[in-house]
Amino acid sequence: MNKAIFLDRDGVLNSDTNGYPHKPEHLSLAKNAREGMKLLSNLGFKMFIVTNQSGVGLGIYSREDFRNFTNALLKEIGDVDDVFACFHAKEDECECRKPSPKMLHDAARKHNVELGKSYVIGDQDRDIQMGKYAGCITVFVSSGAFGTEKSTGRSADYIASDLRDAAEWIAENETKKPE
Ligand SMILES: [Mg+2]
Ligand SMILES: [Zn+2]
Repeated sequence: MNKAIFLDRDGVLNSDTNGYPHKPEHLSLAKNAREGMKLLSNLGFKMFIVTNQSGVGLGIYSREDFRNFTNALLKEIGDVDDVFACFHAKEDECECRKPSPKMLHDAARKHNVELGKSYVIGDQDRDIQMGKYAGCITVFVSSGAFGTEKSTGRSADYIASDLRDAAEWIAENETKKPE
């Protein structure tokens, strides 16, 4: 079975300053995102993006905008194995929107992932909650939405200052675990 890193997108890989980043001009990399991705890509994990994109459900932008923005981002920081997105608005009461763990379970089924040996990295408490529901190890990145009421990081296994710090902790944590 595979081990995976599930990355939140906005606030972890790219900055989330304008609320719904979706245009080329909104793309600015999060602090140390490129360095973090480089470290993570050497650890032997499958890499996935798992993201809520309610801006689509709200009619603010299209799925094509989402794809174009994500592809432009990945060109900057390195590719991932797959991208999972919830396009619903909160009001849709769908099954996939974080903190639901459905996207993790879908990814695990599709890519043969052992969730208990996998990590979720996010900048909001709903990312951490999703990871906990699925039995993953959770890392909170405080350079994202930290400080707002939806983002305390308090229940995460580790609070990282940015993606590079998260990657370094994961590398360290992996060396401690018996196979
Ligand atoms: Mg985020
Ligand atoms: Zn959804």
